[in-house]
Amino acid sequence: MECPRCTFETTNDPYRGTDARHHRRMRLSAIAHAAGVEIDHCSGCGGVFLDHGELAKIQIAARSDTKPTRAPTTALQRVYARAREHGAGTDGEAAAALVCPSCGGEMAARNWGFGSEVMVDTCIECRGVWLDSGELEALEDLFR
Ligand SMILES: [Zn+2]
Ligand SMILES: [Zn+2]
Repeated sequence: MECPRCTFETTNDPYRGTDARHHRRMRLSAIAHAAGVEIDHCSGCGGVFLDHGELAKIQIAARSDTKPTRAPTTALQRVYARAREHGAGTDGEAAAALVCPSCGGEMAARNWGFGSEVMVDTCIECRGVWLDSGELEALEDLFR
């Protein structure tokens, strides 16, 4: 799987010579999450891709976690800020739609959970979820 956010430019393309500019996407690497699911992590931007149902498992695991609730992190504030941005409906500079790294479908910002006002990028085809760096941790805090 490849990161829907990160591209990097390389001039080291053996097929087109060293002058050719070639855009490549960062590869996601599978990492094990404490909730017992395997998530795909981008080492470039810190984003993660979750298959359909995995975020729900993480939510359940977070609820049974007995750690004391921490103060909202800056990442959580960022999640809320994003929700407000999306809610405002003033596009003009709407972010380009992400392409699902799993199936190539279009991703759209969707409300996660009931009235949580947290927006996550969800694939309209396979219902996989993309979370930017820090957003997974922020959601885990929120789930507790
Ligand atoms: Zn990335
Ligand atoms: Zn998809």
